[in-house]
Amino acid sequence: MDKLPRLKDIRPFVSTRNACKLCAPLGASVALKGIEGCVPVIHGSQGCATYIRRYMISHYKEPVDIASSNFSEETTIFGGAQNLREALGNVIGQYKPKAVGVATTCLSETIGEDVFHQLAEVRKQTAGEDWPELFTVSTPSYQGTHMDGFHATVLEIVKHFVKDDEKAADRLNIFPGFVSPADIRQLKEIISDYGIKPILIPDFSDALDNPLWDKYYRVPEGGTPLDEICKAGGAVASIELGLFTKVANGGKESGLMHSAASWLESEHNVKNYKSLMPIGVNSSDDFFDNLTRVTGVEMPEKYMKQRGRLLDAYADGHKYVFGKKAVVYGEEDLVLGLCSFLDEIGVEVVIAGTGAYSGRLEEELKKACPNHGENMKVLGDSDFERISDESHKIKPDIIIGNSKGYYIARELKIPIVRVGFPIHDRVGGQRINHLGYAGTQELFDKVVNALLEYKQENSPVGFKYM
Ligand code: SF4
Repeated sequence: MDKLPRLKDIRPFVSTRNACKLCAPLGASVALKGIEGCVPVIHGSQGCATYIRRYMISHYKEPVDIASSNFSEETTIFGGAQNLREALGNVIGQYKPKAVGVATTCLSETIGEDVFHQLAEVRKQTAGEDWPELFTVSTPSYQGTHMDGFHATVLEIVKHFVKDDEKAADRLNIFPGFVSPADIRQLKEIISDYGIKPILIPDFSDALDNPLWDKYYRVPEGGTPLDEICKAGGAVASIELGLFTKVANGGKESGLMHSAASWLESEHNVKNYKSLMPIGVNSSDDFFDNLTRVTGVEMPEKYMKQRGRLLDAYADGHKYVFGKKAVVYGEEDLVLGLCSFLDEIGVEVVIAGTGAYSGRLEEELKKACPNHGENMKVLGDSDFERISDESHKIKPDIIIGNSKGYYIARELKIPIVRVGFPIHDRVGGQRINHLGYAGTQELFDKVVNALLEYKQENSPVGFKYM
C-alpha cells in the first residue's frame, strides 16, 4: 500500500501575507481627490479611513482629509443609514464641498447597505437646500484591489456627471489611471503642446502635490472641474492608459464590464483609444501616435528630441543593463508597462508579480515583451511572501516596484528602484515621472545607476571611472 502523505508534507493553505495590493476604497479615495471640490466619505469603520489616510499622507506628504461614517457595533447590526446622514451633514457643514463621493467598505457591503437608496433619501430630505452632488461607488476590498476601486470610481464619476453634449472638436478626454501627480502634469503639458485642452479624469496633480500653503485649505485646490466632466460625452475621443481598466458594473448594466472610457464609447459614441501605460519607447510611440490620430497634429519637435535623447541614452547605458535579471511587481498595468520597457532595453524580467488577478496579465506580457516574455514567471493573485520565495530561488540582479518590496531587496542584497504607489521610505514618490519619453528617461537613468552603484559598492578595489 502506498504510504499516505504526512500532514506536515502537504503545503497548508495560508492566508495572504504582506499583500501585493491595497484596499479598494483607497483607490476610490485617490480618484475622488482628483475631482474639483470633492470630499471622499468612507462608509464603514473608522479604521478603514485611518488606514487610507495614513497610506496617502505617507506617500504624497500632503494633508489628506477623508471622512468616515464611523460604524460601531450597533451600526453593524442595525445599519449605517443614520451614520451616513450625520457624516454627510458634518462634511457638508465643515468643508462646503462641491461633491461628496461615498465609497463603501468590506463591512458596509457585507451587511448589505444600500447606499444608492440612502443617498436618494438624503436628496429627498434636503430638496431645495444648497447641497453638493452626492454619488456612491461600491468598493468592497474582498472583490478587488485598489485599482478596481480606482477604476470603479472613475466610472461612477463619469456616469454621474456626464450629460448629453454636442460634439466639440477641441475636447479630448484623458483617463490616465492611477499614475503620479507628476505624470498627470506631464500629460497635460504634452496634450496642450498638440493644441488641444484635455479633460483629465481624474486630475489629482494639485490636490495630492500642493505648493506650500500660507493657510490651510480644507478642500485643496485643483481637480477636474465638474462642468468639464459633464462635457466629456461631447469629446472628440478618449485616450485611456492601461489595459486592465474595466470593472464589473452594477445598475442597469449589471454583469457588463466597463471602464469610464468604454462606457463613454458605448453610451455617448466617444471613440476610445486604449494603449499600454506609455513607459518605454514602443509604448510611448503608441501613445503619441494616438495623439496624432486624434488631433491630426504631427509629434512636436520637443518630443522628437526627447525620443532621440532617450534612444541615445539606451545606446550609452546598454552595456550596463543587458542580460540583467529583474523582479517587477505592483499593479497589473504598471507591471505590464515596466516589463515592456525593460524588455526593450535588454533586461530579462524573471518574475512579474501582482496581487491582482484578471487572468490576462501573462498573455499581455507575452505580447508586450517579445524578447523575454515566454520565460517570465508571472505571479498573479500573489503576495510578497510568494514573490520573495520565488525571488530567492532565481537570484535576480534588481527589483523594481513600490517600497513594500524593500525587504526582498534587503534580504537578497540587491538594489531596488522605487516606482508606483506606495513609497513610504523615501520623499518624492508623488514627483516620480513614469510616463512618456521624459519619464522613461528618468526611469532608465535610475535603473542603470542603481546597478552601477551596486557594482561600485561591492567592488573589492573600488573605482571612480567606468
Ligand atoms: S476592512 Fe476592507 S475596506 Fe476596510 S481597510 Fe480593511 S480591506 Fe479596506
